[in-house]
Amino acid sequence: MRARRFSLGLGAEPPPAWLGLLATVVAVVAGTLLVYPLKSVAPVVSLGVVYLPAILVISVAWGLRMGLLASLLSAVAFNYFQLPPLHRFTIADEENWVALVTFAIVAAISSTVAGLARGQAVEAERGRERANRALAELAALAEERDRMQAEMVEAEALRRSDELKTALLRSVSHDLRTPLTSIIAAGAALDSPSVTPEERHELSEAVVEEGQRLSRLVANLLDVSRLEGGSAAPQREEIDLGGVLEAARDSVGASPEGVRLSIDPDLPFIAADPAQLERAFANLIENGVRHGGGRQVLVRSRQTGERVVVRVVDQGAGIPEGERERIFEPFYRRDGEGHGQGSGLGLAIARGFVEANGGEIAVESVPGQGSTFVVSFPLTEDGR
Ligand code: ADP
Repeated sequence: MRARRFSLGLGAEPPPAWLGLLATVVAVVAGTLLVYPLKSVAPVVSLGVVYLPAILVISVAWGLRMGLLASLLSAVAFNYFQLPPLHRFTIADEENWVALVTFAIVAAISSTVAGLARGQAVEAERGRERANRALAELAALAEERDRMQAEMVEAEALRRSDELKTALLRSVSHDLRTPLTSIIAAGAALDSPSVTPEERHELSEAVVEEGQRLSRLVANLLDVSRLEGGSAAPQREEIDLGGVLEAARDSVGASPEGVRLSIDPDLPFIAADPAQLERAFANLIENGVRHGGGRQVLVRSRQTGERVVVRVVDQGAGIPEGERERIFEPFYRRDGEGHGQGSGLGLAIARGFVEANGGEIAVESVPGQGSTFVVSFPLTEDGR
């Protein structure tokens, strides 16, 4: 927006010319009238200065031409009304020239200075406009960037959910089909008259086992999709972690010899969802048994500083360093290991539930000696 300033005429544009003419006439009349009372206190020749302030203001506000006009009119009026011989215009006397030239010099200097100032004002205004335009462009760019970022986040979320769906389909098609094929084959064989009672027993065991595998897989798929969809809000309550660990061991069907629990009897309570933590620890214990080379798995829980720490320790082949983070990704299975047994979801679910309950999970491993999954939770506010 263009700011017009009338006050000192130093705005980008001078005030309108008609106003200048009016101001000139008013100034000349006022100056001339002011000289009359002053004549009694000073010699009239020196009273030409009375006109100067108005000439200065007019030159500053309206420029050189209006200033010269004001100078000329002032000189004429001064000459005609105030300098003897009165009411006659004469330019013979030196004083007349002095007054006119002084007025003209004042007009020239002040209008030039004002012109320079006005030029600077115009430049400043252009600069302001340029800056405003640049700012507007920057704001538009920032808006565009924000929009693109939002789109990228959306696209990334879509891509992730797409990837998850693809992996899910792949896993479902393979992992569901394998036990289903076994169940169908065993079911068909059961009906055959040539099957011996022992074979029948084995076949029916296979049906139950494969059915349980399917059921675990479906439960895992449901957990992962809940965690990914953000609908796994924990129902937190004060829980005794020892009880949860025992229930987790029982749920995977491990014996107390196969999986030894070592739980500090003074373990403080923590605030968490017991069902979710049972699922998380069951997955860790199941992995320990599965990858533990037939040796005992130890589940140890202690308070360490301000946290309750659970360690699930196995004595299996361990996990190479490069894979210790990847194994927590959904559907990630290490090549050639545990294939056909797991779905690659166990650790993703364990991490999802542990973190949803305010805990942390990490793995330590010495290849060839075993792995330790370390899960920790902060103490509840009152520490019990
Ligand atoms: P799964 O349900 O197939 O076992 P997980 O997410 O639980 O999938 O584990 C992912 C991979 O991490 C497994 O394929 C396995 O190779 C490796 N892994 C998990 N736990 C252990 C462990 N205790 N010792 C060695 N490898 C392990």
